[in-house]
Amino acid sequence: MESRIDRIKKQLHSASYKLTPQREATVRVLLEHEEDHLSAEDVYLLVKEKSPEIGLATVYRTLELLTELKVVDKINFGDGVSRYDLRQEGAAHFHHHLVCIECGAVDEIQDDLLGDVEKIVERDWNFKIKDHRLTFHGICWRCHKKSDEKTENDKQ
Ligand SMILES: [Zn+2]
Ligand SMILES: [Zn+2]
Ligand SMILES: [Zn+2]
Repeated sequence: MESRIDRIKKQLHSASYKLTPQREATVRVLLEHEEDHLSAEDVYLLVKEKSPEIGLATVYRTLELLTELKVVDKINFGDGVSRYDLRQEGAAHFHHHLVCIECGAVDEIQDDLLGDVEKIVERDWNFKIKDHRLTFHGICWRCHKKSDEKTENDKQ
């Protein structure tokens, strides 16, 4: 985690920003919750647990700065809430999401998988792809398991 913070610090420096203690507190929360997709309010509540002096506006500005510097990506799963998602280091494109319509769980696919699609789009539309957002909506394996178990129980 420390080396990751160091690299983010360098990213900020190369854009002439400092990793102030407030910014660092926000970055730490994002790293500690890398699996999650936190809203600005979620991040703020977690930052506040350790650093009660930091306000929502500061956290919000930090998140916007980190978005600008491509440390995080801002995403929306259709519920009107902007969420902040750490970008995988060295990944050319943003990862994909599987959103469960039953339980709301969000899983990530880190493999790009879109190589062939990207080639077709670039060729047929003469379009240079820089990034993409891909969210699948469906029913996750946990919910499948639950409904399988329920069917089993109903049979008995
Ligand atoms: Zn994600
Ligand atoms: Zn891609
Ligand atoms: Zn589910």
